Amino acid sequence: MIEAKELRVSYGKRRALDGVSFSLREGEMLFVIGPNGSGKTTLLKSLARVLRAEGAIYVDGKSAFEFSRDEYAKMVGYVPQRGEISHLTVFDAVLLGRKPHFKWRAEKEDFRIVEKVLEILNLNGLATKKLNELSGGEFQRVMIARALAQQPKILLLDEPTNNLDINNQVAFMKLLKRIIKKEKISAIITTHDLNIASNYADRIVMMKSGKIYASGGIEILTEENIKAVYGVEVDVIKLNGKVIILPK
Ligand code: ADP
Repeated sequence: MIEAKELRVSYGKRRALDGVSFSLREGEMLFVIGPNGSGKTTLLKSLARVLRAEGAIYVDGKSAFEFSRDEYAKMVGYVPQRGEISHLTVFDAVLLGRKPHFKWRAEKEDFRIVEKVLEILNLNGLATKKLNELSGGEFQRVMIARALAQQPKILLLDEPTNNLDINNQVAFMKLLKRIIKKEKISAIITTHDLNIASNYADRIVMMKSGKIYASGGIEILTEENIKAVYGVEVDVIKLNGKVIILPK
């Protein structure tokens, strides 16, 4: 579905990504974890083609740079961290997700898809509200709605559960998982919350200083790896088939 080979990005002299390779299959959720500054956002921006990384990215077997911008947007939906405060309405923000699909203006089909996505994400009642009037949880749902309206095969989500309380985090992750499995899309999600990753990840990439320190299933969430990457002592507790990470 998506494959990255030896990605490298530097900001001036500073190397932010240093030879990152991985691949992801259809219907999988990959969590990218690591401390601040380890390169998670840079990796996502590279995959979204917001940044031009050295190395190769393949989407469905084709080099990412062979796609036109619109063609790529049909394949890959990118949800950056909250930052844009906007006076757009929820409906218009989600309709913008359809932009790669229409030539001059939105058609009936685009409106139909927007309405369907708003319904799936339970945003119908908020369609005419402005983005800057939404709570953190609502705003996150709108950003996902916009990415889904794009009908991509791959979703890139940068810290989607930041600023959500625990209740909204759980609701959000469950919803996301259901959509990903149902629509058979893949998702790459950055987080610094190890327990979210341990709960929902099919696969995990653990970053340290721009490199992949470890990758695999949740079995890589060991006390040793976490100490090496985050510099903190934790207990990794197995409970009912789940893994819980507690600072010591
Ligand atoms: P993370 O998302 O894991 O916190 P980032 O990808 O944001 O990490 O950053 C990786 C490294 O690149 C950090 O050292 C950060 O300071 C640096 N960096 C990120 N963005 C820029 C930028 N626009 N200009 C210069 N340095 C940057």
